[in-house]
Amino acid sequence: MQTAEPVDRRLDYLAPPGGVAAGAFVEVPLGPRRVAGVVWAEGSGDRDRARLKPVARVLDAAPLRGEMRTFLARAADYTLTPMHAMLRLAMRAPGLADPPALRRVLGPGGRPPARMTGARARVMAALAEHGGAPLTPGELAALAGVTGGVVRGLVAQGALVEQEAPKDAPFPRLDPLRPGRALAPDQAAAALRLRAAVRAGAYGTTLLKGVTGSGKTEVYLEAVAECLASGRQALVLLPEIALTAEFLDRVEERFGARPGEWHSGITQTERRRLWRMAGEGGVQLVVGARSALFLPFRDLGLIVVDEEHDTSYKQEDGVLYNARDMAVLRASLNGAQVVLSSATPSLETWVNAAQGKYGRIDLTSRFGAADLPEMRAVDMRAEQLPVNRWIGGEIAAAMAGRLARGEQTLLFLNRRGYAPVTICRACGHQIGCDHCDARMVEHRFLRRLVCHQCGETRPMPAACPGCGAAGRLAPVGPGVERLAEEVAERFPQARVAVLSSDLFGTARALKAKVAEIAAGGADIIIGTQLVAKGHNFPLLTLVGVIDADLGLQGSDLRAAERTFQLMRQVSGRAGRGERPGLALLQTCQPEHPVIRAILSGEDEAFWRAEAAERRAHGAPPFGRMAGIILSSEDVAQVFDLGAELARRAGPLAAIGAEVFGPAPAPIARVRGRHRVRLLVKADKAAPLQPALAEWVGQLRLPHGLRLAIDIDPQSFL
Ligand code: ADP
Ligand code: ZN
Repeated sequence: MQTAEPVDRRLDYLAPPGGVAAGAFVEVPLGPRRVAGVVWAEGSGDRDRARLKPVARVLDAAPLRGEMRTFLARAADYTLTPMHAMLRLAMRAPGLADPPALRRVLGPGGRPPARMTGARARVMAALAEHGGAPLTPGELAALAGVTGGVVRGLVAQGALVEQEAPKDAPFPRLDPLRPGRALAPDQAAAALRLRAAVRAGAYGTTLLKGVTGSGKTEVYLEAVAECLASGRQALVLLPEIALTAEFLDRVEERFGARPGEWHSGITQTERRRLWRMAGEGGVQLVVGARSALFLPFRDLGLIVVDEEHDTSYKQEDGVLYNARDMAVLRASLNGAQVVLSSATPSLETWVNAAQGKYGRIDLTSRFGAADLPEMRAVDMRAEQLPVNRWIGGEIAAAMAGRLARGEQTLLFLNRRGYAPVTICRACGHQIGCDHCDARMVEHRFLRRLVCHQCGETRPMPAACPGCGAAGRLAPVGPGVERLAEEVAERFPQARVAVLSSDLFGTARALKAKVAEIAAGGADIIIGTQLVAKGHNFPLLTLVGVIDADLGLQGSDLRAAERTFQLMRQVSGRAGRGERPGLALLQTCQPEHPVIRAILSGEDEAFWRAEAAERRAHGAPPFGRMAGIILSSEDVAQVFDLGAELARRAGPLAAIGAEVFGPAPAPIARVRGRHRVRLLVKADKAAPLQPALAEWVGQLRLPHGLRLAIDIDPQSFL
């Protein structure tokens, strides 16, 4: 078996004696190789059987069910993705072709090692933290960050023992009948409605809109309980893997065992086990990232999309899909319920609820004593800040008060690194990436310049690459690392934590930091949008937004919506415990309608206005859009091809769609490839995908040119 990748075509093979079911995973000869594939359909039998090669063997995995095949086909049609690329998402199981087997795993041996070293302690801690689930020696060494020799040493000493374990065991049973917490009246009413919807056993989608801290998680866990009690499986999608730890604990507390976990941080063995158990029904509840939608569940009855507005649900690489929309598609084919949970839903979801396509449940107050934070704008036009200072007087004074009382402050700045721009004071040159039309961002912590587009890094030069002047390079503007310097100068006694995705090598390290902060391990937290997502810091009572105008610049269709969501979410971090919260937003445009909407608390008015605006322009969700990105190393080639596409827009004109462009994409060069963008706008009811397929199908793509189609583009990169 050389590869577990599906072949990229539909091919005909002779069924093995006794036949093979549609959906079965098989190994077939392909030229000199053997490859894995799925039996997509049975042939009519009128082929020339003598010319067909036989299926080599049927693999030991639950066949893809009919509804899953329909789902993949519909998703491929919708996103204009080749079927084999879609199928690959559904076959992300290592060792699919391997026979079921036992594996050598390690467990605690009960005897402490004779001499405890740092490395040995890390191994024992990793084993304990992993909750006793069996790990192979290699996995344990990797988790603890030690060499295999350290692990072998512990085995020799009897601190670890070797055991045999089945490779793919069912997950521990969750008990849905255990009583949950006592619910507040509005929570109980919401839970009752969701339970009834799940019990009905048919498709439906509900928006669960509730302010941060209102108990949305508590409520949708009731829907999960109902689903599990009916014997069906449930899936909860989370936007950020750093949030899974807290969620796993809550599930364990509620149902007495941990669910299956699916994201980039799990081992290959765990991946294989979960994939197989999803298909065999050996896992009741899966918590995961967006790709968990493509697990081959035996009987999926409920999908929860937590923080449904989060941009990470849109896959921006490879197969371009929106997990929220795909969750709805999958549920509709499965007779399953969808719960879209958010304090600040996407406009698409808000409109679907307003039009009655989705149900809607509101939770309007925080659970228990916690009140929503007070929110105020700080008019920065009136502040006379010295150069290279970004914290205004009002936030600084509020911070001092929090420090004195032992409460936490969060400073929010959505910019990674030290400074977004490095400029030469001699010639004015700004340091850019050699491969992208983007400026290099100084990361002082890493002592390097980093391109946020392609990831290219290089040491900070001593002299200007433009004019050669030495010692004249200067940072311009703040990133979180630079803000941390200002905080250290002004509050030298405070313990400061910077939370930014690039500062943590692993999800585990980030998780540990978040837990430490939640337990009071920092006084001032400085963070990017990473901190906006769902973390619960009980001691946090002040949120200072350094630049609330940041997201309002630019021409992105969703700029207003995103800023509204982000500011609301960040502010929602304050006052989740007993003590009241305050959020201060530094802005140079306090009269901006979005800033006013954020402060006023009149959410519905904001969404109504935003919806009216989009409707007036025929923009999504009232019209449809698709982005085409052409890229090549040859700049003339992309523009020529873009122009040719625009000229041959007949198939689009036929459905009344308009084409804009070609224009340089907002980031016109990434990784040395020039990028040109066309935008297609169509009526909501227009059959967009077939027209797009016909349109781009007219082109013969020259070697080296790539074309990507993004249906319902979320960002305009
Ligand atoms: P949301 O998901 O809406 O932000 P959570 O479900 O995380 O809200 O609830 C916020 C906090 O309130 C959590 O710490 C949670 O444990 C607590 N909480 C919510 N509802 C209840 C309840 N009925 N009983 C006890 N604690 C609750
Ligand atoms: Zn770059």
